Amino acid sequence: MEHPENSSEYKGLTVNSGVAQPSIVNPYLRRGRFARRSLSVGDYVEGILKGNVTILGQAVTLVESTNPQHQAIAQEVIERCLPHSGKSIRVGISGVPGAGKSTSIDEFGIHVLERTGGRLAVLAIDPSSEKTKGSILGDKTRMEKLSTHPDSFIRPSPSAGSLGGVARKTRETIILCEAAGFDKIFVETVGVGQSETACHSMVDFFLVIQLANTGDELQGIKRGIMEMADGIVINKCDGDNVEPCRLAARQFRNALHLFPAPESGWTPQVLCYSGFYGLGIKEVWDMVFSYIDFVKTNGYFDHRRAEQAKYWMYESINEQLRNSFYNNATISGLLPGAERAVLDGQKTSFVAAKQLLDTYLTLISAR
Ligand code: GDP
Repeated sequence: MEHPENSSEYKGLTVNSGVAQPSIVNPYLRRGRFARRSLSVGDYVEGILKGNVTILGQAVTLVESTNPQHQAIAQEVIERCLPHSGKSIRVGISGVPGAGKSTSIDEFGIHVLERTGGRLAVLAIDPSSEKTKGSILGDKTRMEKLSTHPDSFIRPSPSAGSLGGVARKTRETIILCEAAGFDKIFVETVGVGQSETACHSMVDFFLVIQLANTGDELQGIKRGIMEMADGIVINKCDGDNVEPCRLAARQFRNALHLFPAPESGWTPQVLCYSGFYGLGIKEVWDMVFSYIDFVKTNGYFDHRRAEQAKYWMYESINEQLRNSFYNNATISGLLPGAERAVLDGQKTSFVAAKQLLDTYLTLISAR
């Protein structure tokens, strides 16, 4: 049989009734000459360092992928981008759904870009995004002005299971964005539970958006939000809501007095603003920039980043140990039985866990 490469069809000619005619299909396309080439680690790194957002976006997709091959490339790209990262201001922005995060980030982003130039990346941590499919923090359509701004890069939350996994991916994306020349990074997060802690552990300034009349003043104290916040801002301070917002601000200021002074030496401020009407935006950013100046001068900026790097090392060890344990075929075979034994009261949780861990450690050391 004739090798397909030698056939006239392969060479871009179709044989019809013995008369050679040009093919309607571009032969180069068919041979994959213009088909999308997969990029090498070097291509990704070069593209990112040149500030190419298309390549940056593709690299972020690799970071978010669960495919081991993609992960291997992503880790190498991150490693090579690391020396070019770190030179940004990272601001975490938290608030419950409806607090006005997307409206505010749109305004904040435009303000900061006009004020300081440079480039802004908006990333997100939302571990619920896979489960609900509804919540897609960072979605471009929610930030109309920023999404068409040439110096912005908006990326929705990675939607991969555990909070630890989602947060790690966002943190790795920060590195890639910084290497691509983004000198302002916003990390948006939902104001519930552990995702705030994860966000706090990767930013220089943690901004908490609150609303008046929600009873959140007390909830904030309960959830430990007051200890994390470098600034609390009361949104929707417009129309009839101005007085309630001022009252809420006073309550937050009073509540802050109940806490010991933060390690940074900075006293968290409480401000009112309106994201929708663009009121008080400058004051919010005066606060953020004063904080950055303050902590860069007293050394806390570098200290916090170093502590965060240490935190993420341990987080990464925990995640990898957990994955190695649960992905082990023998262990996953034993888990249902162990679970039943605990439910039936035949074994205590502690004994069942110890037996599984002992089995795992024996398997690992036998390798
Ligand atoms: P998110 O869920 O935290 O991202 O909140 P959104 O930005 O989507 O805003 C939720 C709702 O609050 C929307 O209907 C906005 O129009 C409204 N909103 C946001 N900011 C303001 C504000 O400053 N004032 C008023 N009155 N409404 C606002």
